[in-house]
Amino acid sequence: MVRFGAVMLLALLACFLPAASQDSPAAAAPSAQGSSPISGAPAQSGAPMPAASLTLNDVIDRVVQREHLFLAQMRHLHPLVETYLQDLKNDGSGNPVPVKDKYFLGRLDMSEGPEDTSFVGQPGFGHRLVTKLTGIYSLHFLPLGFAQMVVLDTDFQKRYYNFNFIRREFLGDVRCLVIDVEPKEGDKIPRFMGRIWVEDQDYNIVRFNGTYTPHPKINFFFHFDSWRLNLRPGTWLPAYIYTEESDLKTGLTKTLHFKAQTRLWGYDLKGLSKTEEFTQILVDSPQSVKDQSETAADATPVVAERMWEKQAEENVVERLLKIGLLAPPGEVDKILCTVVNNLLLTNNIDLQGDLHCRVLLTAPLESFTIGHTIVVSRGLLDVLPDEASLAMVLAHELSHIVLGHRLDTTLAFDDKMFFPDEDSFQRLDFKRSTADEEAADNKALELLKNSPYKDKLGNAGLFLKALQQKAPDLPNLIRPHLGNSLFQGKGVRMSSLLAAAPALDEKKLDQIAALPLGGRLKVDPWSDQVELSKAKAVALNSANEKMEFEITPFFPHLARLSTGGTEKMALTTSSPVTPPAAPATPEQK
Ligand SMILES: [Zn+2]
Repeated sequence: MVRFGAVMLLALLACFLPAASQDSPAAAAPSAQGSSPISGAPAQSGAPMPAASLTLNDVIDRVVQREHLFLAQMRHLHPLVETYLQDLKNDGSGNPVPVKDKYFLGRLDMSEGPEDTSFVGQPGFGHRLVTKLTGIYSLHFLPLGFAQMVVLDTDFQKRYYNFNFIRREFLGDVRCLVIDVEPKEGDKIPRFMGRIWVEDQDYNIVRFNGTYTPHPKINFFFHFDSWRLNLRPGTWLPAYIYTEESDLKTGLTKTLHFKAQTRLWGYDLKGLSKTEEFTQILVDSPQSVKDQSETAADATPVVAERMWEKQAEENVVERLLKIGLLAPPGEVDKILCTVVNNLLLTNNIDLQGDLHCRVLLTAPLESFTIGHTIVVSRGLLDVLPDEASLAMVLAHELSHIVLGHRLDTTLAFDDKMFFPDEDSFQRLDFKRSTADEEAADNKALELLKNSPYKDKLGNAGLFLKALQQKAPDLPNLIRPHLGNSLFQGKGVRMSSLLAAAPALDEKKLDQIAALPLGGRLKVDPWSDQVELSKAKAVALNSANEKMEFEITPFFPHLARLSTGGTEKMALTTSSPVTPPAAPATPEQK
């Protein structure tokens, strides 16, 4: 895999080092097409181009222009890129099932382009490889190939392609022109071949689907479906890429069969940091410091220790937020806190100090505590089938807090947070000892038995069973990066729940032990805010549609950023989380 990944990288390098690059401005490039008018084009108010009857030729000019503007913008943005890949093999009945997996997380850096970032026909544009990734994890499956799929062609020119208008189509709320794109014959440089969806207001590409061609002799390209979201006014940025191959020959005997999801987020990390700085200034104003010192006594030793732990906790949470690994406080945290409160109330536990819940934005299934903050990963929240299984995960973490398992308090020293983002998983470690893990498991069982979830723990046990079954094939999904694994040594966490659960029956349609990835949470790639997906669960046609822990294609509901949306984007990290008033139920699948 690694070898072929490297081969693919070379192929991509070739792709983005075109020989002919002294391009004339796209608008002046020889017309590739006839001039069939695309009538009925948008005449919406506020649309910059009153386009009653643009020809395809005009449309393509604008698309090329927007795409160059897009590339120029991407040079200033450094989102996180996560790729999770499952290798597939057909089972006895011919259904593809995951047998191996790979994971990568990094930060996209396209800044090493030409100095001048103006976009049309700039001499030298496309000369150099503009995409570079800094890895947070070690590179197992060269992910550049996946991140590369955010770009259709770093040297997109009308004269390299044939365009064929297919139809108009809505993607979500957004009306699009659907256009087939094919490199001109005889072009030796690999270029995009497939279909593009162009929103019909500003002519941004919002989706493209296909591959690169021609394949150099010893190399290959993947097929991909790449989606962009309207994250800033007038700007559509890459958010999701789905890749799938079922029979890709990569050698005499090797065939690739896999599917992969690539997600991008953390576009506005600077925005998050600015808010933090602002808060800091308010808190540290000389006046308030003076007031406090006059009225308050020194902390008692116990209070001092608590404050010190709190400081360590806040340092880490703030750091994880700035890296883009932790979502800002939001509605999902409140739902998690509601479940935690249910556990606390029914067990008559009165914890001193506040308790917070936060979402880690990555896919691997993990949960851990940072002081009094419980963190659960997006991937884990996605696959948990119901509230009882969520309660099981939270009960374990809550038990660490109830049992007084400590955070490394040297993290209260600020210098401990000075490290490059890509070292995060080496520098931050919230793993517990085996003894602490066992103690937390036992305490969690006790908490659950007194809780409103006590009669529904069969489902939680089923989830653990499914996890145990899949764990050997999906080590990268199950491997935590900051906390302890749900699957430790010989067995899963809280194995007594597993023992009490009904038998797993893969054929049974109404037995849902775990969900596919990506079904429950929706991440705003600009602000990192998470919310529950509003999509309603559908009835399954067959047991093959259960897809527990599996990857599926993306079909985001595209919408233009409305004024309301802009305001929502402006929401910052400092909005306080108010304790939930009534028990909430996470959307049931
Ligand atoms: Zn634990």
